[in-house]
Amino acid sequence: MERRSFIKKSGLSGLALSLMPNLGLSKEFEYSILELMGKVDIELYGKGINLRKRAHDAFVDMKKAAYNDGIDIKIVSSYRDFYRQEGIWERKFLRYTEDDGMEPLEAIDKIIEYSTIPGTSRHHWGTDIDIIDGYRKVEGDVLDPSKFENNGPFVDLKKWMDENSNDYDFYLVYTDNPGRRGFKYEPWHYSYAPISIPMLTEFRRKNILKLLQEEDFIGSEHFTNGFIKNYVQDNILDINPTLL
Ligand SMILES: [Zn+2]
Repeated sequence: MERRSFIKKSGLSGLALSLMPNLGLSKEFEYSILELMGKVDIELYGKGINLRKRAHDAFVDMKKAAYNDGIDIKIVSSYRDFYRQEGIWERKFLRYTEDDGMEPLEAIDKIIEYSTIPGTSRHHWGTDIDIIDGYRKVEGDVLDPSKFENNGPFVDLKKWMDENSNDYDFYLVYTDNPGRRGFKYEPWHYSYAPISIPMLTEFRRKNILKLLQEEDFIGSEHFTNGFIKNYVQDNILDINPTLL
C-alpha cells in the first residue's frame, strides 16, 4: 500500500515538473552527487548557523519571531560534511563492536537509530538543523527526546515550533508518528523544505545502493544489498511526508 502511493506520488511530481518548467523547480537538477553526499564545499551563511542562503534567511526570520516570544532558538548542529559524518560513524562502530562486544550488524542497527550512514545525512545539504532553546540550562545530552516533552526544558520551544515553524518553511523530519520506521523520533531536527525537497528528489534519482557499495569506511564491508535497500526505504524515505 505504501509502496503504491510512493510510486504514484513520484509519478505525479514528475508530471508536475514537466508541466511547470518556469516555477524554479528545474533548480533541483543542479545538485551534483558530490554535493548531495557532503563531499564538496558549499557556500554557507551565518555565524553559528551555517545554512544555504535562503535557509539561513528563513531561519533568521524565525529566530527573531521566537525571540519576541521568549524562546532562543539555538542551533546545535547544521551543516556537516561527509568526513565529519564518517568520523561519527566509525567512532560509534568501533565503540559498539570493540568496547561493547556487539556483532557488526547489531552495531550498525544500533548506530542507525540516530546516526546516518556517511553520505546519506540530511545535514550534508545545508538545509537541516538540530535546535534547542538557548535560554534553558540543561544537564547532560541536550538532544534527548525527554527534554522536549512533559516537564522537559525544551517543551516551550517544541510548542512554539509546532505552532510556527511551518510559516518559515521549516518542518520536523523524524516525527513521532507510531507507524514511521527508520530513525527514531527527533523533536530537535528541522528541515528547510523549499531546498531539501528538491535535494531529496534529486538524491533518490541516484543509485544510492551503488554509491554506498563503493564507499570504504569502517563497517561498510558489512552492508548487504538488502540492508541498503531497507535503509533507503526506512531511514531516508520514511520521514514527514510533507518533505517528500
Ligand atoms: Zn539532525
